[in-house]
Amino acid sequence: MSPRPDLGPRPRLGYAASPVDRATERRADADALRALESDPRARVYVIGGELIVLRKGEGGLDPLFACAEARALEGTREMAFLGLIDGAPRFVVALEPDAAAALKAGSTFEVVDLRSIAVRGLIAAEHLPPLAEGKALINWHARHRYCPNCGSATLVVEAGWRRDCPVCKAQHFPRTDPVAIMLPVAGDRCVLGRSHRFAPSMWSCLAGYIEPGEAIEDAVRRETREEAGIVCGRVAYFASQPWPFPTSLMIGCHVEAMSHDIVIEHNELADARWFDREEVALMLARQHPEGLTAPVPVAIAYHIIRAWVEDGVDFG
Ligand SMILES: [Zn+2]
Repeated sequence: MSPRPDLGPRPRLGYAASPVDRATERRADADALRALESDPRARVYVIGGELIVLRKGEGGLDPLFACAEARALEGTREMAFLGLIDGAPRFVVALEPDAAAALKAGSTFEVVDLRSIAVRGLIAAEHLPPLAEGKALINWHARHRYCPNCGSATLVVEAGWRRDCPVCKAQHFPRTDPVAIMLPVAGDRCVLGRSHRFAPSMWSCLAGYIEPGEAIEDAVRRETREEAGIVCGRVAYFASQPWPFPTSLMIGCHVEAMSHDIVIEHNELADARWFDREEVALMLARQHPEGLTAPVPVAIAYHIIRAWVEDGVDFG
């Protein structure tokens, strides 16, 4: 086995390790919520669909608004309590996406999608987990204003963490969609794929939604077989992170490749092939002679790939 590269300090995983104490016990307590909203330390993120509204200030871009400032914006919809950060209440307010886009016109705000904010490092990284929480929640609200059971208009309750139907009495909870994202490995080699939407130089892990009634391990093996034709054995869980595009949870794994020949499912993948460890290390370090790259560190794929490059995988 060849020596394993050392790529230096590991960057943090973009949307994971949230500083938010969700304080879920306060959601149903109207008095506690009023007190949280009127707390002078309370701050709000403003989100319109894919767009995050940032205030332009002397010190750079600021994603935080006072409650009254946020409510005064045109086109506000639902408000939700995200939790406490160092004891200070943090909320999210939804804007109609058109209203958010309209704010681009003035000079007061920078209105940017969350992917760009994360990749370009436009604001402090500590805001990414609560923004992921808020964005996923706001997306869910926008899609559940009517009861999926009977079609009646639903009402926001529990500080934005539930919508109730006043007609059929159904209670609706925010959803999270689990996605398996995996790196098939065999000794010093791994399989990377390219989605049709990737930049031409970029290669990454394989991934797919976990289906109802399916275990994570089975989804990892099924997706790897379907997308790349590789038969897989043991699965090792690595880490997870929220991926609010719109409401996914990425569940990162390494998987033992038991077969060699790749058969690409072209509806899913533009390409897939085997890479050896040294080549992948150059891609992670952005030093590949042909300019091939791995994903950016805000994506869990970077960390799944890097962990294998530096540490290998113990399938137990
Ligand atoms: Zn209903």
